[in-house]
Amino acid sequence: MVKGYRPGTLQEALELLAQETCTVMAGGTDLMVQRARGFSLRPKLDRPLVFIEQLKELKQIYKKDETLHIGPCVTLTDLLGHPHIPEIFKQMIGRMASPPTRNMATLGGNICNASPAGDTLPWFYAMNAKVKLQSSAAERTVPIDAFISGPKKTILGNNEILADIIIPDETFEINMYRKLGQRKGMSLTKASFLGLAMITGSTVTDIRIALGSVAPRIVRSPEIERTLKGKSINDIRSSAGEISQRYQPLITPIDDARSTAKYRKEASLNLIRHFLENMQP
Ligand SMILES: Cc1cc2nc3c(=O)[nH]c(=O)nc-3n(C[C@H](O)[C@H](O)[C@H](O)COP(=O)(O)OP(=O)(O)OC[C@H]3O[C@@H](n4cnc5c(N)ncnc54)[C@H](O)[C@@H]3O)c2cc1C
Repeated sequence: MVKGYRPGTLQEALELLAQETCTVMAGGTDLMVQRARGFSLRPKLDRPLVFIEQLKELKQIYKKDETLHIGPCVTLTDLLGHPHIPEIFKQMIGRMASPPTRNMATLGGNICNASPAGDTLPWFYAMNAKVKLQSSAAERTVPIDAFISGPKKTILGNNEILADIIIPDETFEINMYRKLGQRKGMSLTKASFLGLAMITGSTVTDIRIALGSVAPRIVRSPEIERTLKGKSINDIRSSAGEISQRYQPLITPIDDARSTAKYRKEASLNLIRHFLENMQP
């Protein structure tokens, strides 16, 4: 039988992690599946659990100094109903799992799981989000792409909790999200695409493209984006095919139970092209 701690405050949770090597559990929707041993058997949990989903400090959503802060224990359902959450992100969340799972699953869990198929991640990459990691002795804030160090890998220490998600409070005129799966709901992602852009007159002043499930990490290229900023919409539309091909070397999917590498690659390049060809202010 594994031990479980249910701290009353974030500080208590951090002190527990400073004293003993434990596993942090938020909604448990990833953890319990990953540690499952088969029907009717208890999951294999080799370390004491520290439950954090009840911690009020980790459940806040607020805006401050032009940034949006989202607590890691905010559930996917909470996000769908909150006025500070941009519609495009709600659209992405709405395509995840099913209502019962969304009631349990937290944003922090999706980030810490660090799967290239994690459906919230393209938005955090596109928005240049940062995460605050806290231990009982210190805290550090790092960009999302530095936090996730590889597929299913993060730089989170054993004594740390992801304590805040910090997103520049920016909105985009053009927003496009597509999740390719077997069906609309309860489906694992074969490939996902997020495109955001700002237009002034007929000039593209900002553009961000992020793709999930098509490489070991979320694909985003600030270099390609830089070459598109300042161009006219018409120029971008007419060279959409050539621009999408520049993403070719970055898209390195695998064959797995959900899809083939060939389909994922072709579909991703088509989605990039579709976004660029159809940008409308
Ligand atoms: C039926 C089903 C359908 C699903 N569908 C989707 C889907 O469509 N798209 C998708 O992306 N995912 C999906 N998932 C996966 C999962 O629901 C999400 O990744 C969810 O957001 C995980 O959150 P959680 O709170 O349950 O994480 P947990 O399982 O509690 O934790 C996941 C990992 O993160 C760590 N962790 C969690 N919070 C913190 C924190 N604040 N600080 C430090 N470490 C932390 C845990 O130690 C663990 O390693 C699905 C899962 C199920 C069971």
